[in-house]
Amino acid sequence: YAAKQERGRHAFYDPESEEHSTASSVLVGELQRGLGKGELVVFYQPKVDALTGALIGVEALVRWQHPTRGLLPPGRFLPAVENTPLVVPLTAHVIDSALAAVRGWRDRGLAISVAINLTARQVASEDLPRQIEAALALHGLPSQALVVEVTESSLMANPAQTRTVLGRLREMGVGLSMDDFGTGYSSFTHLRDLPVTEIKIDQSFVAGTVDSVRSAALVKSIIDLAHNLGLNVVAEGVETTECRSVLTGMGCTMLQGYLLARPMPADQLEQWYAAQLALTAEPAVA
Ligand code: C2E
Ligand code: MG
Ligand code: MG
Ligand code: MG
Repeated sequence: YAAKQERGRHAFYDPESEEHSTASSVLVGELQRGLGKGELVVFYQPKVDALTGALIGVEALVRWQHPTRGLLPPGRFLPAVENTPLVVPLTAHVIDSALAAVRGWRDRGLAISVAINLTARQVASEDLPRQIEAALALHGLPSQALVVEVTESSLMANPAQTRTVLGRLREMGVGLSMDDFGTGYSSFTHLRDLPVTEIKIDQSFVAGTVDSVRSAALVKSIIDLAHNLGLNVVAEGVETTECRSVLTGMGCTMLQGYLLARPMPADQLEQWYAAQLALTAEPAVA
């Protein structure tokens, strides 16, 4: 809606913006075709226990296996679709892929959960709980197998409706994670008003823990806040062993980041985890 308004306002004197909107509607058309052809694939990035290294869950991250441009990250196509109706079938595809993957892992003895990311439009959609309930039933999964990740900014658009939708999901037993925590507005208000079960510390804070005293103090405060509220706390964007040990020392319970694993296709997860377990089981060499 906002994008449409923008476009109208600039149509006469800003040819660049007009070009941009044409490019983005071409992209939307192409994405619609790609979705139909199975080009939208879901990768999974582990969330691990900070102390034991045990795999707790994975986060579903969509990619577009483009026929000529290669594997595109969501930043290259999501902005163009997130305010169009195409976001609905796209999300349905991500949810279905993620639940099918978890079903498979659970069937093979890996009792993990999967987290999906939702846009502002979807967290305000009254149809979402019913849709998720149906998807869980279809795959024969308990609601505890699913976590939804929302950002503070995605909660701004329609706060009242969003509260209803997230409240309903939580009643069902779905986990609720505050993504990129600390980068949006009213972080404390959301923690007060929403039935949050997990906080994800934004990677910009996490990256600073090693060399910035201020970032380290902020991260420690977020971890303590999570503990005081009885919430899980995940550090995202952990890239170095030094960063991992600082976070673990601060009491962070879960870690996610390139140091542990990059996002990977579903069929590589078990292999990754087996290799990981073999590494930790290896006797220390004197
Ligand atoms: P996010 O949910 O905050 O996801 C974390 C992003 O950081 C992912 O980028 C991930 O690949 C990247 N990342 C993970 N570990 C590290 C690290 O150690 N270092 C660095 N530099 N980056 C790391 P990605 O996959 O490009 O996704 C970007 C954003 O796109 C996500 O941010 C999320 O907001 C959105 N997104 C991804 N998939 C979906 C989806 O299926 N639906 C919706 N609505 N949004 C999605
Ligand atoms: Mg996320
Ligand atoms: Mg994040
Ligand atoms: Mg992010």
